[in-house]
Amino acid sequence: MNVYDSDRMADVMAPHGYGLTEDAAEADLVILNTCHIREKATEKVFSELGRLRAAKQARERSGGLQILAVAGCVAQAEGDEILRRAPQVDMVFGPQTYHRLPELTRLALDRRAQGGPAQVLDTDFPAIPKFDSLPEEMAARGPAAYLSIQEGCDKFCTFCVVPYTRGAEFSRPAGEIVAEARRLVAAGAREITLLGQNVNAYHGEGPGGADWGLARLIHALAEIDGLARLRYTTSHPRDMDAALIAAHGAVPQLMPFLHLPVQSGSNRILAAMNRRHEADAYLRTVDALRQARPDLALSSDFIVGFPGETDADFAETLALVNKVGFAQAYSFRYSPRPGTPAAAMDGQVPLAVGQERLAALQQLLDAQQRAFNQRFVGTLQPVLIERAGRQAGQVQGRSPYMQAVHLPGTPGDIGRLIDVSIAQAHANSLAGEPAPPIPGRAGAAEADGRLADGRLMEGARV
Ligand code: SAH
Ligand code: SF4
Repeated sequence: MNVYDSDRMADVMAPHGYGLTEDAAEADLVILNTCHIREKATEKVFSELGRLRAAKQARERSGGLQILAVAGCVAQAEGDEILRRAPQVDMVFGPQTYHRLPELTRLALDRRAQGGPAQVLDTDFPAIPKFDSLPEEMAARGPAAYLSIQEGCDKFCTFCVVPYTRGAEFSRPAGEIVAEARRLVAAGAREITLLGQNVNAYHGEGPGGADWGLARLIHALAEIDGLARLRYTTSHPRDMDAALIAAHGAVPQLMPFLHLPVQSGSNRILAAMNRRHEADAYLRTVDALRQARPDLALSSDFIVGFPGETDADFAETLALVNKVGFAQAYSFRYSPRPGTPAAAMDGQVPLAVGQERLAALQQLLDAQQRAFNQRFVGTLQPVLIERAGRQAGQVQGRSPYMQAVHLPGTPGDIGRLIDVSIAQAHANSLAGEPAPPIPGRAGAAEADGRLADGRLMEGARV
């Protein structure tokens, strides 16, 4: 979501004469967009600000004036602290007010021109959602674009800062989303990932005031000509309703990969986390999804060392991982966040125990990911080419299952869907060669992962 927000900030500033540069020492405005989800991410902000101070000094020594801003959830949660600890920062604003960037920048410039510190702070939660004030014009995003459809969260998991930094749950109206998706496709997007902190809680206003859930929205987006792939993230297991599960079987553009965080396999810990579901309910949801789309690949998030987690609780997490079999996953040691209920809970788990559990869980998840990737060797996969590869003569894209795929190609291939014969599997990626067309089979450009008659293609039956 920060990638999407950063792109939108650039869109907001474009009519005011600001364009992107790769070099901070050359910029008139530098915005550090930040994440507050774990302590490590927050710490990085202050080390990065040290580096950016040097760039700002270099810029100002050569006679320019640079505004240095901190945006995002660290700005939201620790705005005053940032201005106090890092006097080189001119401006701090939260994720809900970046549409005001032009006026905030003007204020900062005026104050600096008068010789004082800028000290501009805007961490409001405005009553009118920022989406109503964002420009329609968007710079091209490349073949795989993000689109925020929902923001904030009302679930209040006891470990999580999101409800405090991003605010209450809000869904954008469906018509606005479809229009933005059309603009993205017109600008070259072939894949769109719908974003939200709790994306499947989406319930936006549809035509005629009807309430649309995510499934209804996906069906509408699938009508857009030229949009080959749809994904959505991040989902909460509680909000996987029957219509959304069915959409995985019914909408060919909806890619067979789902990130569905479970956090823990222990019912006791899930209750303490206020996740509002049990491990069995998660397994039943996974079964239903796999019935709808048998080749669905699953990803998840895990927290180990949550307060009160015992060896037996952790063993239940490992058992759940073994039952599901994940294609990939993210796992974290519990990080106490200021102001969240879990930070004040008894039974904080010692660092060494948390580290040991994390290592054991990651070993299991890595093995599952390697085995998953290995099954693709010898199959044919439609790959959406997203960028040039690390080596000359190489390009990189993604399989329907979200795996990075490397293949020989040229920059002219970016944006094409190419059938790739997979020759190698690595821990985090696949590699192969473009495959010659197969008679009788629709090319990847026409159908992602399906035969001409709509059946799943061979490579998809992993
Ligand atoms: N809305 C999503 C998750 C958003 S936060 C959901 O409900 O699943 C992304 C991930 O960061 C979470 O899934 C969780 O695994 C991790 N996370 C959030 N807060 C954390 C904390 N205090 N310590 C460690 N990991 C955390
Ligand atoms: Fe945080 Fe996700 Fe829980 Fe919301 S549902 S509080 S975003 S972990």
